[in-house]
Amino acid sequence: MKILCVGRNYVAHAKELNNQVPDEPVIFSKTDSALLLKNKPFFIPDFAGEFHHEVEVVVRINRVGKNIAPQFAHRYYNEVALGIDFTARDLQAKLKSKGLPWEKSKSFDGSAMLSNFISKDKFANVQDVNFRLDINGETRQQGNTNQMIFSIDELIAHVSQYFTLKIGDFIYTGTPAGVGPVKIGDRLQGYLQDEMMFDFLIK
Ligand code: ZN
Repeated sequence: MKILCVGRNYVAHAKELNNQVPDEPVIFSKTDSALLLKNKPFFIPDFAGEFHHEVEVVVRINRVGKNIAPQFAHRYYNEVALGIDFTARDLQAKLKSKGLPWEKSKSFDGSAMLSNFISKDKFANVQDVNFRLDINGETRQQGNTNQMIFSIDELIAHVSQYFTLKIGDFIYTGTPAGVGPVKIGDRLQGYLQDEMMFDFLIK
C-alpha cells in the first residue's frame, strides 16, 4: 500500500504559502506507518515546532492501473474519505530552503489521518462536494472539490504515469486555504457535505 499526496491543488492555498500555482500536479508520498485511523488522537511529535492541519479529500484505488487515460480514471476508485495531511511546517520550510526532500516533515508517523470511506455514489458529482474542518467547534478550513486545480481523474491519470496504482493505495487530493497549527487539547472534526467523517483530539 502506498499513500500519494498532491500539493498545491487549490489556488488559494498555494497563494497563502507563497507558492506558485503549478502547471502540473506536485506529488509526494507518505509511508504506510504515517496512517492514523479510527479517530485515534494525534500526538504532537517533538522534532519540530509547528504542526499544521491540511484537510483533504482522499480516494482509495480499487483496481490495478498504469498509464490510465483520464476518461477511464473514474473506474479506478469508488470510495472517498476525509483525511488530514499533518505537516511539520517549520521543518518543511527548512528542508525546502535547502532544496531537500520533504519526507521528514510530511511522512512521519501519524501524519496521514484518515476517516472511514464512503461510496462516491453517495454524491451526485464527486467533483462537487463541500468539505470542511472544524477545530473546537469553529470552522477553520472549507472547500469544494470543484475548486481543485487538477481533478481527481486528472490526478489518477497523472500519477499512474509514474507509479503503478494498486488496490488499497490512497491519494490525498490537496488542501484548500486556511491551514494552521494545531495545539494540545484541540478537537478536530471533519465533514463531507454535512456528514461527520472524523472526530479526534490533539495530544
Ligand atoms: Zn496536503
